[in-house]
Parts: sequence; structure tokens; C-alpha cells
Amino acid sequence: MNNLDVWREIGTLVCDLDGVVYLGDEGIAGSGPALEALAEADIDLLYVTNNSTKTPDEVAAKIARTTGYAADPGSVVTSGIVTASRLSGLARTALVVGGRAIDVALESVGIEVTDVWQEAEAVVVGLDFGVNYDKLAGATQALRNGALFYATNTDSTYPTPDGLLPGGGVMAGALAIASDIEPVVSGKPEPEMQSYIAQRAHSPILVVGDRPETDAALAIDAGWSSAVVLSGVTRSLEEIPARFAPDVVVNTLADLVGLRST
Ligand SMILES: [Mg+2]
Repeated sequence: MNNLDVWREIGTLVCDLDGVVYLGDEGIAGSGPALEALAEADIDLLYVTNNSTKTPDEVAAKIARTTGYAADPGSVVTSGIVTASRLSGLARTALVVGGRAIDVALESVGIEVTDVWQEAEAVVVGLDFGVNYDKLAGATQALRNGALFYATNTDSTYPTPDGLLPGGGVMAGALAIASDIEPVVSGKPEPEMQSYIAQRAHSPILVVGDRPETDAALAIDAGWSSAVVLSGVTRSLEEIPARFAPDVVVNTLADLVGLRST
């Protein structure tokens, strides 16, 4: 039974992207007009994604390309942005096993990216399509030399049209094994992400996403409201574990926004 109170008062809508706004490279039906309606109602929006392979500018461009809605890059929060924010002031240099978007995020807070392990005060790991033995070796040496260990996410896989492929957790796992150190993790539902959102968002907060174990879990842990859409990895009500039961289950973001006027 949906709890429509989630819309009665809302400060910020925390909106997941893949499976909610778009699925792969296709916009999900109605998500563009839904985002437009939220903007017209002056509802504060944060797009929050565990994907660290794109910069906020690239994510905003993808929202525009797939939905027709011109999203503000300043409202995009990636797990790479959260990692950079958390490391700011803790490390001056970082060795990155991950995509260029992580470099950009770190440099935006004044952290210098280095390939020299002896110089690295931190190791940051995310999904890296160009991972190789030398990169893992350098990161391992930096970690064994005392560098801080941060992972943007520990997702074991990510969905593609060709099925599930290795996610950022595979690289983080390799380094955890090699260094015997566990990383601080920034993605949903981790406390790092929770506290970052708490700083940026206005209460009351409603989180919408397609993965109960990350999106709803983030909200439930923090005492925020949650909605699960069935337009992504979760396809039916029965697939939602009882411990991550959200306040609202709807087919799409457009349906969630539609509930405001019922
Ligand atoms: Mg998702």
C-alpha cells in the first residue's frame, strides 16, 4: 500500500538515474515530462548515481539526450564526486584505478592525480575499463606504503544489453585482497553517501531508485522516505526484500510524480 504522505511535504527528491530516468542509452517513457513537472513545482532535485565513469557534465548531457530535459550538472552527484569531497583535506595526491571522471572529480577539489605510487597519499578505485597488472601493482604498493583506500562503489556487476559485466567492486576487491585493507566506500547505501546527501539536500528527503538494496536501503538507514520504481533492475513487487520495503512502489518516475496530484 503506497504511503502518499511522502509527497505532502518534500524538501529534496534524491533521484537515481539508471533504471529510473534512463535504462542504458534509452530514456524511460515519461521521465522527461516528469522532471519538467518537478522543476515547475520548484521541487529541489539531486541526481545521485553510483556510476563513477562519467563527470556531472557528461551525466547531465546524457539526461538531456535520453529524455529531452535539460538537467543542471550542478545537481548531479556521482560516487566519484562524493569520494573527492571526502578525500578533500585528507590527501594531496591520489593514484586512481578508474576512469577519467574520477581524475576530474579529484582535481576539482585540488587533489593531484599521480601514477607514481611513492607519491600517492590515497588510492581511489572505481570501474576501470583499462585496468591492467601494472595499475593494480602500483595501487597495491601505494596501499602497502600507507595510502588511504577509497572505492567509489563495490558493485560486483553492472547491467548491459549483453548481460551482467564486471563492476567497480571487482577492481576494489582485487586491491583489498592484495593489500589486506578494506576501502572506505562512497556509493549508495554507504554512510559516506548518506552524509554527503544530508549536507546537500533539504529535509524531508524522498529517495527514488530501482534497487531496493541500495536506493531504498540508503533512505531507510537515514530515516528518509523511499520509492522503488519497477522500470529498472526490479521488475515486480515480489522481488523487493521485506527489509528494504519502501514507502511507495510505482512502475515509473512519471507514476511517482503523478501521485502528487491524486
Ligand atoms: Mg539504478
